[in-house]
Amino acid sequence: MTRIKFDDQTFTSQNDETVLDTLLHNNVQVPYGCKQGVCFSCLMRSLDNAPPASSQVGLKDTQQKQNYFLSCLCKPENDMTVVLPNAESVWLDAEVIEKRNLSANVIFLKLKSKDPLAFFAGQFVNLRRDDGVTRSYSIANIHNPNHELEFHIRILPDGQFSRWVADELQIGMLLTFSHAQGSCHYIEGKEEQPLLLIGTGTGLAPLYGIIRDALSYKHHGEIHLYHGSRDESGLYFVEKLRELAKKYSNFHYTPCLSSSTDLSTDYAHGRVHEIALKECAKLDGWRVYLCGQPEMVKHAKKMAYLQGAALNSIYADPFTY
Ligand SMILES: Cc1cc2nc3c(=O)[nH]c(=O)nc-3n(C[C@H](O)[C@H](O)[C@H](O)COP(=O)(O)OP(=O)(O)OC[C@H]3O[C@@H](n4cnc5c(N)ncnc54)[C@H](O)[C@@H]3O)c2cc1C
Repeated sequence: MTRIKFDDQTFTSQNDETVLDTLLHNNVQVPYGCKQGVCFSCLMRSLDNAPPASSQVGLKDTQQKQNYFLSCLCKPENDMTVVLPNAESVWLDAEVIEKRNLSANVIFLKLKSKDPLAFFAGQFVNLRRDDGVTRSYSIANIHNPNHELEFHIRILPDGQFSRWVADELQIGMLLTFSHAQGSCHYIEGKEEQPLLLIGTGTGLAPLYGIIRDALSYKHHGEIHLYHGSRDESGLYFVEKLRELAKKYSNFHYTPCLSSSTDLSTDYAHGRVHEIALKECAKLDGWRVYLCGQPEMVKHAKKMAYLQGAALNSIYADPFTY
């Protein structure tokens, strides 16, 4: 058993418990999101003993040296005095400048940052409400001089954050957000490389950003986008993407429905990753992007690898809840 000191209080962590769980069990409100080391919203810093290396995976070497760690992954080996990172250095302010529906359960949200931003389309940021509730959302637009960020947010019926976005967040209101994170983005310099992008639901958001980025760099390799949903109500941007496919001969778009009841010929039928990986069967030399439902991402990653994609050419963002 180890002791965790936070904000002048000391807590005892139970066997195998993470720092985050110890704090939450003791009713200490600290920011967190995915609880799987993906979203980085539970970043903390130890002021004395070094955290285990396994809780620093993915952090910059400069942050590791300063004893930053992800509290959701940190099972402490020694007593630790922990603090939240300096809020000013991590969180930025933005104003909501646009909000509209893309479909019955997907909202388009545009924020304008008060500060200049560095980001790549397809990366994600953590959006935070005044009460500290924080969730990750992927950036659907390319870098722009107006410091604007676009998101596609799926409304979950009882979702704490997404329901609030749908019901309460209004144009003109302020939100805080983290710097952009993640490696799921376009890389210039290989404009001839074929790209395969597979997404479910709002997994389209980062993929749409990546495609816009690729086309802005005049990517001339083939670009194949497969967007899946159970039924037609879960797809959006269908006409926009069909128009894009008419405009760019190297861009191919296949909307897919997995529900067996809707057999319209406008769509491919079956699971999106199975359709995509059947049609794009040989992936040696390809770059692959997978976003959305975690099970789909997991299976598609394995299949893409078995079909020739190099592991370091597969970029995946599972939308963990
Ligand atoms: C890297 C990353 C990027 C992400 N990008 C996006 C994005 O661009 N767009 C987006 O919409 N989301 C994205 N997400 C997911 C997002 O962060 C939130 O998890 C999501 O919006 C739910 O938050 P919430 O507060 O509304 O729901 P919560 O209050 O956290 O509730 C989620 C609860 O909903 C239930 N639930 C889980 N899965 C489902 C499901 N499939 N259908 C219905 N209910 C379910 C479960 O009970 C779960 O506990 C991303 C996640 C990650 C990790």
